[in-house]
Amino acid sequence: MDQVDPAAVYDPADAGRGHGHPCLLSFLVLKGSSLMQIKQITVYGVRLPLKQPFKIAYDTYEDIESILVRIQSTSGETGWGEAVVDQHVSGETWQSARQIITRELAPLLLGRTLDGIAPFHKAAEARIRHSPSAKAALDIALHDLLARHCKVPLYSLLGGRCHARLELPCVISMLAPEEMARQAREACARGYGSIKIKLGDAPEQDIERIARVREAMAPGVALRVDANQGWSAKQALQVIRQAAPYRVEWFEQPVSIENLDALTRVTQATEALIMADEPIHGVRDMLEVVRRQAADMVNIKLMKSGGLHAARAMAELGLAADIPCQIGSMVESSVATLAGAHLALAHSNIVANDLVGPAMISRDVADMPGSETHIELSGAPGLGIRVDEERVRAMSAFEDRVD
Ligand SMILES: [Mg+2]
Repeated sequence: MDQVDPAAVYDPADAGRGHGHPCLLSFLVLKGSSLMQIKQITVYGVRLPLKQPFKIAYDTYEDIESILVRIQSTSGETGWGEAVVDQHVSGETWQSARQIITRELAPLLLGRTLDGIAPFHKAAEARIRHSPSAKAALDIALHDLLARHCKVPLYSLLGGRCHARLELPCVISMLAPEEMARQAREACARGYGSIKIKLGDAPEQDIERIARVREAMAPGVALRVDANQGWSAKQALQVIRQAAPYRVEWFEQPVSIENLDALTRVTQATEALIMADEPIHGVRDMLEVVRRQAADMVNIKLMKSGGLHAARAMAELGLAADIPCQIGSMVESSVATLAGAHLALAHSNIVANDLVGPAMISRDVADMPGSETHIELSGAPGLGIRVDEERVRAMSAFEDRVD
């Protein structure tokens, strides 16, 4: 393969349309992706049915409202992306994300080249503040389209394979302690290597849940706790102290999204590992965690960061600051789940994942690679799946086209 001189490729006049990602330069030059343009974007509002209602500290979900986007190039190539909003975290709703994608963000891409990921984010930030899930949908679709065009798996564009495969946790809803213990026992029997339990409605009950679940688990299986902001700082410290015999690997977001001071207090008052989730959206938030030493670990989600572009930078910042990261997710279909999986596979500082959406829904828009307990990514281009468009249309409540 010929050597590529980046200086000969990068032209500042390209800002706004050209070569966004330095590590992509060789692909871009060799594959000519700067010649193809984006022609059409289709936005589908899809309801993903859950196998069972999902209960966490701040809400209960009966089904999941997802937005799938398909970007098509002038040569007929396609890339898929997805937004799953959480109004308690980003302030977006299904319909607000739809409007922002269709009216504000998708028009920015028409006529642009396939390699314009960084320029897209610059233009999107200038156009509308926040709205990370809406931005993530298009960011993921752009990455999928570019990787497909280059005929490489997405993880290759993101830095190459750092992990052989991804082990999935079993996530257990917040239920009665006995029921959670029963599900944990079953999960161990099915071969899961880690279990994450949802807590946060009442500290005494939560201690009981941790104890019952740990007693039901096979030895050697990791137990993780997510309180989804449910405790005060003092309650969190009480639970953490009383849970010491049950070997919890880490405690995720024990306190309110609004109170980074409380998270910092908890982190600095205990030897247990504390993972930040809901308050940490993008790179600036990550910097704040580093500056304050507010958490030991961070849960990166594409739906908070605005997609892969910022998520990768967050993982890199975490690496520099000794803060290991997890790639989390909303309850997403295989599309956004696999975008997270490709990033998780491609970054040494991503040590865990929470990519369990496809295991929780009863109907998906594509077939997930791997098994119930692992994601195995092949060398197939892009996200590595074939989205079933007929299925997407059958599951859609709305369809918008931007061209
Ligand atoms: Mg969480």
